Formats: sequence, structure tokens, C-alpha cells
Amino acid sequence: DARGVSVVFRKRRTLAPARQVRAVNDVTFQIAEGETFGLVGESGSGKSTTGRALLRLVPTAGGTITVAGRDVTALRGGSLRRARRSMQMVFQDPYSSLDPSSTVAGSIAEPLLVHEKMSAKAARARVDELIEMVGLRASYADRYPHEFSGGQRQRLAIARAIALNPRFIVCDEAVSALDVSTQNQVINLLERLRAEFRLTYLFIAHDLAVVRHISHRVGVMYLGRIVETGPAERVYSAPAHPYTRALLSAIPDPRRKTERIVLEGDLPDPANPPVGCPFQTRCRFVMEVCRQRMPEHTAVDGGGEVACHLQTSGPALSGASLNELD
Ligand code: SF4
Ligand code: MG
Repeated sequence: DARGVSVVFRKRRTLAPARQVRAVNDVTFQIAEGETFGLVGESGSGKSTTGRALLRLVPTAGGTITVAGRDVTALRGGSLRRARRSMQMVFQDPYSSLDPSSTVAGSIAEPLLVHEKMSAKAARARVDELIEMVGLRASYADRYPHEFSGGQRQRLAIARAIALNPRFIVCDEAVSALDVSTQNQVINLLERLRAEFRLTYLFIAHDLAVVRHISHRVGVMYLGRIVETGPAERVYSAPAHPYTRALLSAIPDPRRKTERIVLEGDLPDPANPPVGCPFQTRCRFVMEVCRQRMPEHTAVDGGGEVACHLQTSGPALSGASLNELD
């Protein structure tokens, strides 16, 4: 349960005053136990930093984070380390959790030896079990990461992530580097593990197509802010925010009648965001009010919320009439 979470980075350049970047800006969303929440947006939108903030891997500059009913925002030292054991991260690059110079047994056993103080023998038995849980042969344990395909390496990174029986896993672009059929296999594996161990996922991807089938609910980030949330069904069938609609239109779909919306220009400088709606510089529906006031989060028919003035003070545009404007 993230409420009003912000993360501020200070960037210092030689001979210039330090610049403050709000990488994550007043972000609020909840993930229910056993649920998968897909978080999407372009690179630089603050998705990974949000994931890292939830795991308390980067300091927050405001807001509260509650995990399983416990406020983890202020935890320090030993209690933070204990809380972190139930929260894990799977990265796009499996080498961030698999040491290339160690056998996979060595990498997967490490958290068991360090945190569970298991004997070498017990850890090895658990490693074999974990490797089988992710659909590989236990005999692979003595090989090195480079001997595996990208999909197999990602399975092994998942085996390490579940070694300590976590409750919450942040998957940060965990399948983004894989080809589509391998993506589907790894997503199926994550789904099976979620159901079996009642895991909860934050599933981060820059591509809406990737999160579509795994997410119960989806959040869309732009320039450090969440601009839309909602049940995956509703977000995909009736996206309410112009940015979400642009992201969706980039997914090839022969049945879609509307044309592809090409986003012009780059993300604005995050150190110097525009006053009002962060999307105004690229939005084809921009109105005067968008340059004056930040849109509030308002409820959307079919579930979730959107932060866009079209929803409140714009001409009465429904999802359907938005499509006609294309
Ligand atoms: Fe576009 Fe205005 Fe909505 Fe922002 S608030 S997305 S600029 S219409
Ligand atoms: Mg990222």
C-alpha cells in the first residue's frame, strides 16, 4: 500500500548548482495479496525507482509504504533487513542476481546460507528443489550462468528470488529481454508460482502488451506520476488517459480500428517539469486548464482512476468520442 510516495534524486554537475529530480512524485496505489499489479510507462518514467522504493532500496522523500499491514517506511537496520527477506526483486538482467563466476547452486544457495544459516547440505537439497520448481533439472545446479539460455537464466534468477519464501516480488522488466515465446513461458512460470505460494507481484514493463496477460490491475506512469490505474480489462478496452491510449495504440492489433498514435517529442526534463499536467507537451487534447493545474485523480467508469482534465473540466468526452477524435 503506497501512499503519496516520492523519491528525490540530487544530480550535481560540475560548476552548476545541484538539480533536484523528483523521480517518483506523489505516487499512490494498492496491491492486494495474491494480486499482480502491472506498472507501465516509457523508460525514465519512474517505474523502477517506484519498485525499489517499495522494497526500501532507495530512500523516500515523503509518503508511506505498508506491506502486509506493517509500515515499513521508517524501518532501519536489522528490522529493515528482516522485512526485506519477504520482499524480493527479479531484474531484466539475470546477472544482477546470478554471479557469473559462481555455479548456479552457489548463487541460489547464498541467501539460504546467509539468512537461514542453513548447513551446506540442507542448502544444496533446497537448491535442487528450487531449480525443479522453476522447471529445470536439478543436475543443472553445478553449471555456470553462461551455459544457459536467456530464458533459463531468468528461471534461475526466479529460483533465487523465491528461495527465502518471499510474499512480495518486484519483477522489473523481468521478461523484457526475452523473445515472445520465451516471455510467455516465463510469465506462465511466474503465474504458477504466484498461485502456488500466494505471491504478490509488482510487474514492471515499458510495454503494455507484456503486462496484459499477467496483470489483474495496471498502473500507468508518466514523468514520475501515476496517470491512470484500473482493472487490466478496463484499461485495455477503454483507456481513459491520452497517454495510455498512445501506449496501447503502439501494440500491433489487426482488429483495432483506430490508427496508431505517435507520441511526438521526448519526455520533458524531469528536473524541470511543466506546471500543470505533466503530459501537456505531448497531448493532442491539451486545454488551457492543463497548463495551469495538475489534474486530480478521478474515478473512471469500469474501475480505477485517471488524472486528466478531460475527465472533469473538458468537453464531455467519453471513451467512444475520444476514439472519434482520432
Ligand atoms: Fe492532455 Fe490535459 Fe488530460 Fe493532460 S490533463 S492528458 S494535457 S487533456
Ligand atoms: Mg527501469
